[in-house]
Amino acid sequence: MDCLIKLAAFPGDFVLLMGSISSMKNRETQFDQAIELLKPFTAKNIRRANWYFFSTIFVFWTSVLLSAYFVVFFPLGLLLSIPITTAFMCRSYVIEHDCGHGSFYRTETANFIAGNLMGFGILIPYSLWKYIHHSHHMHVGNLDKRSFNPEIWTMTLDEYRNSAVMKRLAYRFMRSKFTRFTLTPTINLGLMFRLIHPRFNWKANVSVVLHDLLYAFILWKIHAYFSWTNLFIIFYIPLVIFYFVASYTFYAQHQFEDTYWEKEDFWHYQEASFYGATYIAAPKWYCWLTGNVVFHNIHHLMSGIPFYRLEEAKERFGQTLPFRMIPLSEVWKMLSLKVWDENQKKLVPIPRNQK
Ligand SMILES: [Zn+2]
Repeated sequence: MDCLIKLAAFPGDFVLLMGSISSMKNRETQFDQAIELLKPFTAKNIRRANWYFFSTIFVFWTSVLLSAYFVVFFPLGLLLSIPITTAFMCRSYVIEHDCGHGSFYRTETANFIAGNLMGFGILIPYSLWKYIHHSHHMHVGNLDKRSFNPEIWTMTLDEYRNSAVMKRLAYRFMRSKFTRFTLTPTINLGLMFRLIHPRFNWKANVSVVLHDLLYAFILWKIHAYFSWTNLFIIFYIPLVIFYFVASYTFYAQHQFEDTYWEKEDFWHYQEASFYGATYIAAPKWYCWLTGNVVFHNIHHLMSGIPFYRLEEAKERFGQTLPFRMIPLSEVWKMLSLKVWDENQKKLVPIPRNQK
């Protein structure tokens, strides 16, 4: 609102200002209606939650134990156990994510316990994840708060043009497909989730330290029974595939042509949440694997909806607020969109004449 008042410095701007205020009110009403419509879907079904929680723990650790057996006695069996481990790593992440939003169980304690148990197997400390993911939700699409949003590094076209050569090269490198799918997962796995940081809150930092100590202790104990090569096969291979799937999915959630980026003065939380996130049209198996993360615009608008209710929420929502569906196959093409053009309000490739 402040920015609109500044705009109306001259009497002639008054009509414009009133028009803007009325369209803002209209926008607020539309979002209020959409949120009212989605609210009933935040109701949790504890039976279903228990089923997802216990079946995921059981299948995940059973497949890890099977891999431990196969790697010594029947290596061909790994072709079955490694994909199962990977799939249930994805499902563990889905549950950890919902716990972080308080949308899995009713109490914070139950979400804390379940989130920690799920995060343990995928090397993502729950309290750290909760902290950085909350920051992501609160600052999504805000050009002035990019340092608070742990999203893929995004520059505006003008920033890119005005950057030094080395910075431009670093940006191109970080936004390349190679980096996105090889280096980024490794950085997250080896550094981001392993190191404390002054910006994190104390709970996040304590959880990082405790997890690191626990993992070091477990590795030390297990190494007496398994070689590093076998441990790599049993656990690290599925972990890397899981991180690859997660990287692909994270990218698809906010990096699309018509996404939303605005400066602080014009940034609107609900607009950024809904229009800055995708709805991906994906096959059933992908929806299952990623816990309906494809309905990401609905999730950002109402993060209290449990993953297993997102599909029915989306059915009921329809086009209450209009949005475009993006086929899963288009996500690969979206990887060539690298800078935000503030004039066109589009994510665009780096212009050919710009190195
Ligand atoms: Zn979320």
